[in-house]
Amino acid sequence: MEANKLFQYNTLGALMAGLYGGSLTVGELLQHGDLGIGTLDSIDGELIVLDGKAYQAKGSSQQPEVIEVEPDVMVPYAAVIFHQAEVIFKQRFEMTHEELQKRIESYYDGENLFRSIKIHGHFSKMHVRMIPKSTSDKKFAEVASHQPEFSIEDVTGTIVGFWTPEIFHGVSVAGYHLHFISDDHSFGGHVLDYVITQGVVEVGAVDQLDQRFPVQDRQYLFAKFNAKEVREDMEKVE
Ligand SMILES: [Zn+2]
Repeated sequence: MEANKLFQYNTLGALMAGLYGGSLTVGELLQHGDLGIGTLDSIDGELIVLDGKAYQAKGSSQQPEVIEVEPDVMVPYAAVIFHQAEVIFKQRFEMTHEELQKRIESYYDGENLFRSIKIHGHFSKMHVRMIPKSTSDKKFAEVASHQPEFSIEDVTGTIVGFWTPEIFHGVSVAGYHLHFISDDHSFGGHVLDYVITQGVVEVGAVDQLDQRFPVQDRQYLFAKFNAKEVREDMEKVE
């Protein structure tokens, strides 16, 4: 059986340290997975990968905006997988995101494997944020402290993303990292909280982590990271 491989390009730590320049094309990223998350060049919004297509949720104007991303667009950070559901369950009654997360975790075999998550359903509330485009002289934690947030009611769409075990905090953020896109592609972003009314939840186990580095990016290669600060910033923003 083929291993379920989580492909991660670059690390959140590099983003925290201000390396926002994209160095992998979306076209190449999509060769490694059909579901996932990330951000775009100059941290211009949230990347959502669903059914092999890439979308960008921008919050730079008053209205949230979602557009499909062309294959030549560059990303500084992303994580994707060819999602394979190991557990599928129907959520038939209303739950808050905390309640649904507990239910999802009740299906995990232990807590030491990454999971891929896909939830298609109807949400009575969906609250998201989008990281606004920025230059590298502004620290991620600083940019993140005033991100646009949007909340809508009664929306049908899909949540995609990953759950990271506590022992791998640093490689990624421990716990859930989820992005949302509505079925009509008019609303999306990084999920903060939600209330699901009904839906289908898919949980996939990850067998293997393929961690790629931007090996041709001089900025990354010679960056002096302040590891303590990076860790503190990750706690703050995710
Ligand atoms: Zn995110």
